[in-house]
Amino acid sequence: MRAHGITEYEVYAIKYASVERTRQSNFLEPIDGDPNALMPLDFFVWLVRGAGRLLLVDTGFSQISALARKRFFLQEPAQALSALGIQVEDVSDIAITHLHYDHAGNVKQFPNARIWLQEREMAYATGKCMCDLKQNHFFALDDISVVLKRLYEGDVRLIDSMHSFAAGIEFHRIGGHTDGLQVVRVMTTKGWVVLASDAAHYYENLEKKNPFPAIYSKADMMDGYELIRQLADGEDNIIPGHDPKVCTRFEPLDLPGAHIYRIA
Ligand SMILES: [Zn+2]
Repeated sequence: MRAHGITEYEVYAIKYASVERTRQSNFLEPIDGDPNALMPLDFFVWLVRGAGRLLLVDTGFSQISALARKRFFLQEPAQALSALGIQVEDVSDIAITHLHYDHAGNVKQFPNARIWLQEREMAYATGKCMCDLKQNHFFALDDISVVLKRLYEGDVRLIDSMHSFAAGIEFHRIGGHTDGLQVVRVMTTKGWVVLASDAAHYYENLEKKNPFPAIYSKADMMDGYELIRQLADGEDNIIPGHDPKVCTRFEPLDLPGAHIYRIA
C-alpha cells in the first residue's frame, strides 16, 4: 500500500518482560496522587515490516539478564519473532534506540543484521561517562562488547543525528535519556508513527512533561518531547517505550504464547 508514493509499513510492539514499580519511581518531578501506588513497566522490542524489509527496533534482554535484574520474563524476543514466521537469520537490519541493557541485548542472535546506532550513543557507552557507576549500571558490558565486535566486523552503521533508512523509515537522534538515544519514524496506513522508545517511557511522561528519572540531559529530553510530537501524525501515533497501556490501546495478535500488538 502506498500513500504519496511512500510504502506504508506494518508496525508491531512485542512485549517480552515486565517489572512492578511504584508511580513516583517513574517520574522525575513529584506527581499527584499516591506516590506508592503501583505502576508496572513493560519491556518491548518493535518490528517494522514491508517492501521486503524486516527492521527490528531494539533487541531486548535475555532470560539470564532478567534473572540477574529480577525482571519478570515472558519470552525471548527471537521466540516471539518466530511466532510471526520470522527467523533470526531473516532480520537484515536492527535499529538500536540506545545501548541500555533492556534495548541492546541479544544482538549475537542476529548474525545477518546490520546495526543502526547513533554515533553519539556508541561514544557515550564507551566513553568517560561509563566511569560513573550510576550511569553504567544501565548498560551491560557483555552487550556493549558484542556491538563493538560487530562494529569491528563492519556490521554497524553509525548515524549522525538523522538518517533516512528507506522512503518511509527514518532514524532521529533525540538524546535526553542517554546521549545518543534515537527514535524511529515509520510511515503506516495511520500516517507517521514514532517508536519513541525511552524518549517517553510512558504516555504520562510525555503528556505531563514529567520525565522518567533516568536522564542524561533534561534539556534534550524536553526538546525531544517537542520533536516526537512534530514527527508523528497525532499523539496516538507516538508509541512509548515501556507503557503497559500499549497492550490495551492496540490489538493483540491471536498467536498462542506471544504478546504481540499491531500498532499499524
Ligand atoms: Zn528502556
